[in-house]
Amino acid sequence: QLILLDVDDFSAINEELGHRAADDVIRQFGKQLLQEFPSPHCLVSRLDGDEFAVLTVGNSDVFTLGPRATNIAVPRQTREGIMVSVTISAGIAAAPEHGHTASELMRHADIALGAAKASGPQRHVVYDPALGEAFKSRKGLEARMKQAIEDEGFELFYQPIISLRTMKPAGVEALLRLKQGAKDTPAVFVPVIEKLGLMPQLGAWIIQQAFRDSRRWPELRTSINLSPLQLENPALLDQIDFHRARFDVAPKSIGFEITEGVLLNKSATVHDNLQGLRDRGYVLALDDFGTGYSSLSYLSEFEIHRLKLDQSFVRGGRLIETRSATLIQGVIDICHKLNIDVVAEGIEEMEEAATLRQWGCDFAQGYQFGRPAPARTAAQNLVTLQNNAAAIVDYRTGEPVLGAV
Ligand code: C2E
Ligand code: MG
Ligand code: MG
Repeated sequence: QLILLDVDDFSAINEELGHRAADDVIRQFGKQLLQEFPSPHCLVSRLDGDEFAVLTVGNSDVFTLGPRATNIAVPRQTREGIMVSVTISAGIAAAPEHGHTASELMRHADIALGAAKASGPQRHVVYDPALGEAFKSRKGLEARMKQAIEDEGFELFYQPIISLRTMKPAGVEALLRLKQGAKDTPAVFVPVIEKLGLMPQLGAWIIQQAFRDSRRWPELRTSINLSPLQLENPALLDQIDFHRARFDVAPKSIGFEITEGVLLNKSATVHDNLQGLRDRGYVLALDDFGTGYSSLSYLSEFEIHRLKLDQSFVRGGRLIETRSATLIQGVIDICHKLNIDVVAEGIEEMEEAATLRQWGCDFAQGYQFGRPAPARTAAQNLVTLQNNAAAIVDYRTGEPVLGAV
């Protein structure tokens, strides 16, 4: 049997405790591994960095190996009062079921380790051919993403954002789409692109494209989603300045959407980028509020202009259920007291819009007002929405629903 082991989040340990302490973690980990898997029945070796391999011979049960490996306790490390708990993940492959050659076993243990890592810290996974399939399909998606970036295989769709005060369009959100393979959604492929390290490149293209398209509707605000990795890029502001000047767009016609992870990131580059965007007059929106931690303290700590209530917050009858309704109304009130306006996402029913409007919610976005569409179609839809509020129809039946608000 072959076990591959890897310290969880080793780069964070390195960063927080320094190289010396991190080396210490590795040394202690190695020592305990030798104790848990003693020779001559086991062979422990360090592969590189924080990765170890254990080869066991004889017929030990593969299913007990995982817990034995991941339960190895590396003492908690402290420095300046910071507690860092060190955990380990393991991937296991056994001969002959999972392969006959060393390289095959190595590859399969590595796939199992990848799966263990993906499922959280301190997990172990025994190789299974289905993992190989999942691995292949992920590799396939990765290959398609690389190709799409080379071939300009992406396009931006735009979805209207409606002012609940005037019931007219106030802006659009730019949403990334693949030209081919409509079934791949950005929620799936954006993380893949980030992992491949291609987000800065694609992000620059998104910014360029959104600035260019925004000239079709200059009186509306075009919102651009920024991935956390883009905000770590010291060249981000230069990119934005360049395209703003090139397409001669007013900063007030552009907004940027960030996620809460960005606000938790204490890096100076992220901070400077956010401040730079504010100083230039771009509207900053906190996206996906209601998922993740949704800490209300972000709202006072960071100067954001707009909060986007995630669709999970408003859908599924939450507006009617008393407790969640109270919560949403409370969030809207707090935001208004802090001068933050609120956008409700995922509005599929006119009643939802009507309720939120009553509660003072400022904007709404959702299929009820229009699905994401290519720039040309989106521009036409905006004109219709602008000129004729009666064009707000039930997106399923096509019936006008203006009377509902
Ligand atoms: P998001 O920024 O929260 O975008 C809103 C998502 O809700 C979009 O999904 C949109 O199509 C969907 N949506 C809008 N109205 C409704 C509705 O009434 N019902 C339902 N069920 N869904 C609705 P999409 O386009 O699949 O994007 C998913 C996520 O991918 C986005 O969430 C965003 O986090 C990310 N993403 C999309 N485009 C970009 C991009 O250009 N850059 C980056 N970094 N991330 C992007
Ligand atoms: Mg967004
Ligand atoms: Mg969102």
